[in-house]
Amino acid sequence: MTKKIIVAIDGLSSCGKSTMARELAREVGYAYIDTGAMYRAVTLYALRHALLSPDGAVDAAALERRMGEIDITFRVNPATGRSETHLNGQNVEADIRGMEVSALVSRVSALPFVRRALVAQQQAMGREKGLVMDGRDIGTVVFPQAELKVFVTASDEVRAQRRVDELRAKGTDVSMEEVLRNVRERDRLDMERAESPLRRAEDAIELDNTHLTIEGQRERLLQLFRQATEAE
Ligand code: C5P
Repeated sequence: MTKKIIVAIDGLSSCGKSTMARELAREVGYAYIDTGAMYRAVTLYALRHALLSPDGAVDAAALERRMGEIDITFRVNPATGRSETHLNGQNVEADIRGMEVSALVSRVSALPFVRRALVAQQQAMGREKGLVMDGRDIGTVVFPQAELKVFVTASDEVRAQRRVDELRAKGTDVSMEEVLRNVRERDRLDMERAESPLRRAEDAIELDNTHLTIEGQRERLLQLFRQATEAE
């Protein structure tokens, strides 16, 4: 049997990383972890406990004291077969995807104590390997030793359009301008932050999917996965 590996998928906001990562995991029988959902869940917790205001002001000292009370788990929804995010036992999958959390998550994810706590949980999830994880710092910080690292990009407009389509399909009415602004602002904050900024690991393979279909992307990733497992 081929050895199990860790696949680290990083990249810009809304570039289809999660779809790619989830599909690959399903296809090769690996676990899949969406680390963005974890940062989103901490953001939702902070909002609900008035530790974060809609204008982005965060009570960092209080949030740090309460980090131990934030329990994030992923559970498969039997109706859809998809993994959904739970915050302290409650399903928050829909709430963490809305514009309110999207607009604030990059502020919360820049806090060093938040990153320390979530990175430790993510590393524990990878002990057994056989894992596909997506985020911003998986190949650089969480699993620098990952056997396969992919860095995904796409043009700003294509990414915003995909996000608009996704939100509208769920019944959320958003404008292209608002989403484009959010995507650009998150990229800027994620790349400029002092702690684990978004950047391509030197040994990551870049995948620009602006002109790729979902099927084309799937095939390319599967090909990279096969090469990486054969090399093991
Ligand atoms: O992947 P997603 O867009 O859901 O991530 C939401 C936000 O969480 C990102 O914009 C980024 O600020 C933060 N994040 C991060 N590190 C990760 C994953 C996400 O800082 N590994």
